[in-house]
Amino acid sequence: MASKIGLCTLCGRREAFFHRPYSGEKLCRPCFIWTIERKVKRTISKYSMFTPEDRIALALSGGKDSLSLLHILHKIEKNFPKAKLYAVTIDEGIAHYRDEAVKHAAEACKKLGVPHLILSFKELYGYTLDEIAEILKNVEGAPTPCTYCGVLRRKALNLAARKLEATKIATAHTLDDEVQTFLLNLVHGDVYKLGRVDPEAPEAEVFIPRAKPFREIPEAEIALYAYLVGVPFQTHVCPYAHQALRNDIRDFLKRLEARHPGVKFTLYHSFERLKPLVRSQVKPSITACQRCGEPSSQPICEACTLLEELERYKKEG
Ligand code: SF4
Ligand SMILES: [Zn+2]
Ligand SMILES: [Zn+2]
Repeated sequence: MASKIGLCTLCGRREAFFHRPYSGEKLCRPCFIWTIERKVKRTISKYSMFTPEDRIALALSGGKDSLSLLHILHKIEKNFPKAKLYAVTIDEGIAHYRDEAVKHAAEACKKLGVPHLILSFKELYGYTLDEIAEILKNVEGAPTPCTYCGVLRRKALNLAARKLEATKIATAHTLDDEVQTFLLNLVHGDVYKLGRVDPEAPEAEVFIPRAKPFREIPEAEIALYAYLVGVPFQTHVCPYAHQALRNDIRDFLKRLEARHPGVKFTLYHSFERLKPLVRSQVKPSITACQRCGEPSSQPICEACTLLEELERYKKEG
């Protein structure tokens, strides 16, 4: 317990309760909270994520990560009176799981006075994710619900941000998410995706640039931060999560990190070094999707392709 790890290495006054294995720091509760907020500010500045006049659309799923980011960006925004913070929640239509998260998101925005836009898959695409999953379940070799969820959510977020005339989209992806995505892209053979959504990538001119202020913070530390500042935790787990390859990668990384502290950071930095190399080789060209007009690297964007396939599965099913 606290008394066993000694005094906080930052303030030297209070008992530490947390040991950061990759840095050697031992921290008390207030110092831990302070280091997370400091890290967010440093990451924003390191990657020049925002300008003082940005209109920021924060992707607020209602989970602990995005609620923590709302908490911190709302604090930071107070020092930038010309900046504007909005929250966007995409309701995929996953009974119980998303209903609970949307409720947490709406309550947090109301409490902080942050304007909140909720868009649903049903109103944008005509289907809830539960309805999509019902169609997919009888089709051999069909993509998983998570594939539909990720692609349709990304498009929905762009549409919402454009509606708000946002100049940046902020997401709560943590270090773990970044490394998992890196490995997922490798496993899927999608090497070209490695540099896709960087604010300074060529796509940034047509896509609204994304900012990920938690990209260098482990997910476990965001969870601890959420707990300490009183962010509510979801009680329901997504019913489709077990089908996701990401889960296996998460478990693999967890085991690796436990045996070799710091390995996630090493992978993250390798990824960062690879990105410009991949970008220089692939030189992605962006065009307008022939179906919906949204920016896409293919003549028909991923979302329209998946929705067309869904209609086919429905007819065949
Ligand atoms: S686990 Fe899959 S289906 Fe569930 S919210 Fe995540 S991406 Fe969507
Ligand atoms: Zn301290
Ligand atoms: Zn399209």
